[in-house]
Amino acid sequence: MDEITRDVVIVGAGAAGLTAANELRRAGLSVAVLEARDRVGGRLWTDVVDGAMLEVGGQWVSPDQDALKETLADLGLETYSRYREGDSVYIGRHGERTRFTGEIFPVAPETEKEIVRLIAVLDELVAQVDPDRPWEHPDAEELDRVSFEAWLEQQTEDQEARDNIALFIAGAMLTKPAYAFSALQALLMAASAGSFSHLVDADFILDERVVGGLQQVPLLLAERLGDDVFLEQPVNTVQRGEGGVTVVTDGGLTVRARFVILAHAPVLYPWIDFQPPLPRLKQQMHQHISMGFVIKVHAVYDRPFWREQGLSGTAFSPYEISHEAYDNTNHGDERGTLVGFVSDRNADDLFRVSAEERKARILESLSHYFGPEAKEPLVYFESDWGAEEWTRGAYAASFDLGGLARYGADLRTPVGPIHFACSDMAGAGYQHVDGAIRMGRLAAANIVSEVRA
Ligand SMILES: Cc1cc2nc3c(=O)[nH]c(=O)nc-3n(C[C@H](O)[C@H](O)[C@H](O)COP(=O)(O)OP(=O)(O)OC[C@H]3O[C@@H](n4cnc5c(N)ncnc54)[C@H](O)[C@@H]3O)c2cc1C
Repeated sequence: MDEITRDVVIVGAGAAGLTAANELRRAGLSVAVLEARDRVGGRLWTDVVDGAMLEVGGQWVSPDQDALKETLADLGLETYSRYREGDSVYIGRHGERTRFTGEIFPVAPETEKEIVRLIAVLDELVAQVDPDRPWEHPDAEELDRVSFEAWLEQQTEDQEARDNIALFIAGAMLTKPAYAFSALQALLMAASAGSFSHLVDADFILDERVVGGLQQVPLLLAERLGDDVFLEQPVNTVQRGEGGVTVVTDGGLTVRARFVILAHAPVLYPWIDFQPPLPRLKQQMHQHISMGFVIKVHAVYDRPFWREQGLSGTAFSPYEISHEAYDNTNHGDERGTLVGFVSDRNADDLFRVSAEERKARILESLSHYFGPEAKEPLVYFESDWGAEEWTRGAYAASFDLGGLARYGADLRTPVGPIHFACSDMAGAGYQHVDGAIRMGRLAAANIVSEVRA
């Protein structure tokens, strides 16, 4: 049994935990980062599969993500634009495939009118929401009682308009069905990205990637910490008492510290034995937070064949198994990569069939957008975060109906020496790496000011 002492112990070597650790070090405090896995990065994982470099987890950077952009600059990482030349593809309610440019899907004129109107309604509402405090909106409780699906039904009778608007938040972001989260939760998601229009604009929200992969962020942050990052150390106990905390891992390490930061998905708190238990409000709250679920699908071809047809690789349909797809070709790679996403109920359904059938159905869906060549990739890979013990879903966590207004204000409140930091509790940058960095900075700043008080 090894025992060490630090000012702050951080549980989780994802973007949030490693940011916090570096900030604390800079402020002159000693740290230890305990990571359950045998690698750092958490939901950032750049891996090589059958010779292809794949972003198994997070990858895109958007222009408003200042915290992430500052970190990329600080680490000397370069970015490049997602390929977007040519037409996008939309598949409508009755399976009709249409090529289009711009942001609004090629739908019937009256549906288009409704989509444009709903975007404006949502933008106006979102502008009233402070992403860091959505529960302070004057109608927060009311908006949190109604599912996003029911709210959309109140707004329009046009099914295809509703399906498309829902897609931007449900399938594409929270990765839960639109009946499973509230209108307030939907507004938070949009406010965290600046506006609802930003979510509609793939060229904004999925603007750039990092040369060599986004996992370099946690890898380089961890490098700066050297021996203070401990891998394969799942924390099982957090004991708090006079003068701080004692944190124990399955790997046989005990860390005594003044503070602990839990820097992982909130759905994993129950895995830890808190002595004494967390206050009842936290215990209750944590039961109302759950992970979304999405399969990120990578298909690598000998060349980006869709470009030859004048297609950008960008494709959407609320009616397809893969509800969105993009050209995900790596920087400087002559091969072509498509990435597709299969969300919530579609993902559930596909995990009930064999791996071969799942692959066949997903590639069939991609072929609806890009033609039969899409069915013959050289490399095929499904990121399955639902099967990962230390994440348990993707992309991130959100509240069930009513949870955000009821508990949101306490989400980030420390419990004595226990602080919390994760992308899943961010305002700006919520569910994104940018939010993880912001939360890491915030937890570190709160500890530093407590120490200096
Ligand atoms: C498929 C996918 C695609 C995504 N795409 C994007 C994107 O394009 N752009 C974007 O900005 N974001 C994207 N995201 C979201 C982004 O990756 C996450 O929001 C962010 O990386 C979360 O960082 P974090 O540090 O808060 O948590 P995590 O990355 O989850 O890190 C938490 C760490 O804690 C560890 N841990 C958990 N429990 C314990 C324990 N008991 N003891 C010790 N260690 C523990 C975990 O192993 C993990 O390493 C995506 C996510 C996924 C899964």
